[in-house]
Amino acid sequence: MAFDNHYARLPDRFHASLLPTPVKAPRLIRYNGRLAEELGLDLDPADQGRLAEIFSGNRLPEGAEPLAMAYAGHQFGNFVPQLGDGRALLLGEVVDRHGQRRDIQLKGAGPTPFSRNGDGRAALGPVLREYIVSEAMYALGVPTTRALAAVASGEPVIRETVLPGAVFARVASSHIRVGTFQFFAARGDEEGLWLLSDHVIERHYPDLKTVENRALALFKAISARQAALIARWLSLGFIHGVMNTDNMTVSGETIDFGPCAFLDEYDPRKVFSSIDRQGRYAYANQPGIGQWNLARLVECLLPLFEGGEEQAVEDANAALKAFGETFQSHWLTNFRAKLGLQGEEADDPALINDFLSLMHQGEADFTLTFRALSKLAGGADVQTLIALFSNPAGLSDWITRWRGRLYQDHTGAERQKAMEAVNPALIPRNHRIEEAIAAAIYDDFSFFHRLVDALARPYEDNPDHADLALPPKPDERVLRTFC
Ligand code: AMP
Ligand code: MG
Ligand code: MG
Repeated sequence: MAFDNHYARLPDRFHASLLPTPVKAPRLIRYNGRLAEELGLDLDPADQGRLAEIFSGNRLPEGAEPLAMAYAGHQFGNFVPQLGDGRALLLGEVVDRHGQRRDIQLKGAGPTPFSRNGDGRAALGPVLREYIVSEAMYALGVPTTRALAAVASGEPVIRETVLPGAVFARVASSHIRVGTFQFFAARGDEEGLWLLSDHVIERHYPDLKTVENRALALFKAISARQAALIARWLSLGFIHGVMNTDNMTVSGETIDFGPCAFLDEYDPRKVFSSIDRQGRYAYANQPGIGQWNLARLVECLLPLFEGGEEQAVEDANAALKAFGETFQSHWLTNFRAKLGLQGEEADDPALINDFLSLMHQGEADFTLTFRALSKLAGGADVQTLIALFSNPAGLSDWITRWRGRLYQDHTGAERQKAMEAVNPALIPRNHRIEEAIAAAIYDDFSFFHRLVDALARPYEDNPDHADLALPPKPDERVLRTFC
């Protein structure tokens, strides 16, 4: 691994340097050879023993400078001035084949100075969940951290019960979070905020290096990426589950796949996370929470804004308002594409929202419904769509309106193709993830591998994956997701 570490060069208060704690009997579960190639890693994918040693943290690759990053964060609205990597270690950064700088991090690599009461370890289930979902997100075209490897540790971890342990090797364009800024702001460390801002600009927003009022420009740029990201989540029925400020990147990538899940039947108030008892991070709350998190970020950056305090507050408010508008515009773009609408008409938001209301009322499966609508645009029988609604009242009127809105400058086949390119056939269904985890706990990884392989091509109809595309039967439903 050709490491070229920049974060490690920031002052000591940004991180704690320490080595991974070795695990007893590392065994490779899966290695993402294609990603490794993209990263330019010079590792033999056939040498599973060596890969297991490296990605468990038992053997340190040359040039790695393992460190735990310091950060703070609002957890469910409550500020915690010090969180930090309590079970993750950044091994270092590599520059990939496209010239992009990427972090390689081990999650579950042992306790750190930020562990508080935690054991520094990860259980197998959440590791497999993160592997499956982050790679599925990538294949779906959503900015996300990636899965490089999963290794069984051969050690038990104690949660509600005793579970097998694992280490997850994660790749991110960086692991800098809203909470990283909060860490320095909470300490009144303006120098730290400047160092961090300039590091983030250099790394993620190099065009801003020479602009005036660059801290404000940085805030606007981060907001714009988050607005685009959350609109993508909503367009796929994704619920992050724990949108705490420490789980929100400044790069615009999805991070921290804890109790995340995809909607089956459409319900804007849907929550899966076992720890989200108030529904704070429900499906439809995500844009509002994104804006709330960004408000916390702008509070940190305010002292760096130019033009005096009054001006800074005015600029901050304008930028936060712009987030709402940018999100709305991305949301419309995404859902217009899902409905196959070309151009822009004033009634489009109503047409989209009315369809979502019908889906809610009819308990229609989010993914199957948009896929069926795509096929309807291509000339399929309307019954396939109608059959997805427990209560289809109003649906045929809506279809008539929708058909009236479709411009006739495309053939049905072209429109279907365009719609199927944004309306996946396959998402990582929660009950399938749970099934993969349940088998893996008894050392059978075959379903996990099948699921990961299938999810690499989510926009294709593949009869071999038909069972994976189906929503859960009543007895297969997963009501709560744990992290
Ligand atoms: P998360 O809920 O994954 O966003 O983590 C919130 C905070 O708890 C972060 O500071 C984590 O590093 C820390 N944490 C989570 N699980 C553990 C663990 N098993 N051991 C130590 N720290 C942990
Ligand atoms: Mg986290
Ligand atoms: Mg986590």
